[in-house]
Amino acid sequence: MSGPQSKPQNQPMFDRIALIGIGLIGSSISHAARRAGLAGEIVGSARTPATVETAVRLGLIEQGFVSAAEAAEGADLVILCTPVGLCGPIAKDISRSLRPGAILTDVGSVKASIVRDVAPHVPQGVHFVPGHPIAGTEQSGPESGFAELFDGRWCILTPEPHTDGKAVEKLSAFWEALGSRVEVMTPEHHDLVLAITSHVPHLIAYNIVNTAAHLERVTDSEVIKFSAGGFRDFTRIAASDPTMWRDVFLNNREAVLDMLGRFTEDLAMLQRAIRFGDGDTLHRLFTEARAIRRGIIQAGQDTAAPDFGRVPARGATAAAPADKKG
Ligand code: NAP
Repeated sequence: MSGPQSKPQNQPMFDRIALIGIGLIGSSISHAARRAGLAGEIVGSARTPATVETAVRLGLIEQGFVSAAEAAEGADLVILCTPVGLCGPIAKDISRSLRPGAILTDVGSVKASIVRDVAPHVPQGVHFVPGHPIAGTEQSGPESGFAELFDGRWCILTPEPHTDGKAVEKLSAFWEALGSRVEVMTPEHHDLVLAITSHVPHLIAYNIVNTAAHLERVTDSEVIKFSAGGFRDFTRIAASDPTMWRDVFLNNREAVLDMLGRFTEDLAMLQRAIRFGDGDTLHRLFTEARAIRRGIIQAGQDTAAPDFGRVPARGATAAAPADKKG
């Protein structure tokens, strides 16, 4: 039986969720929160009226605003879902709208800079619990989201030691209800881990795609035609949003440079092994790397299907228009 203070059992976890930014992550949170019945109401804001209109039309939000401060008004959960570099200025903007007892969180891919930029604007009585769902695609905008994005993926929370434990517990329960598994760590450790698992891989993808584009002895059409040899998988990552990724590198500089240093040293070792025909070293290093892939599949973080589960498109011919040029 419920006590006089407790909510009825079918009461949503939050009365009003405000999404500040309604792109891939904001819209996916809306879909997943609706799937699990976590919100009485979802409202939101974006930079442009076009995004706000799309979000309302798609049923992602009940009310939309171009002003983040208006969207945050009266919400008991406010989630910053904009590029990392905007979180500080937006926190300043919405500071007076945040209601006492509300949880303020974010989904930014970098954490220490967000704590630095957002925390000074959080009023007393509001619980700031930074977060980062380790789930995404190369798509952006309100139409790209889907309810299953967070299923089985990790969400990292990086509260400061003095943060209210109940607020951290409630936000953890929210992410679990969205389908995620939750881990808590310091912002600095998050940034180091993500530098090697996400940020440097994106930098390498951007770089290899641009290197291929600027080659003189291999034509662009050859690069496209023969892309299934491995290049294609880098192009998917390199199709990610340039604004988001610019902000990631500007805001996780130290950890990325640290990991890039390690990467460059290891690359030099491979280069040397190739130069000196050292097959044993190459074989050993490739065998170690292969085991990591198996570990990822065993942990349920990817599919073991051949070619990443791609189904060959029916009717695809060897003579697509771009191929002919090569
Ligand atoms: P996105 O699809 O590009 O959406 C960004 C949203 O922010 C858009 O709705 C944009 O509005 C809005 N916005 C920009 N400036 C704003 C402002 N001043 N006030 C209110 N809204 C504003 O980006 P996303 O992929 O969802 O990424 C959002 C955050 O999630 C980033 O911090 C990123 O680091 C993090 N993240 C991304 C991924 C991923 O794979 N994409 C994964 C995990 C975490 P307009 O459409 O009107 O410009």
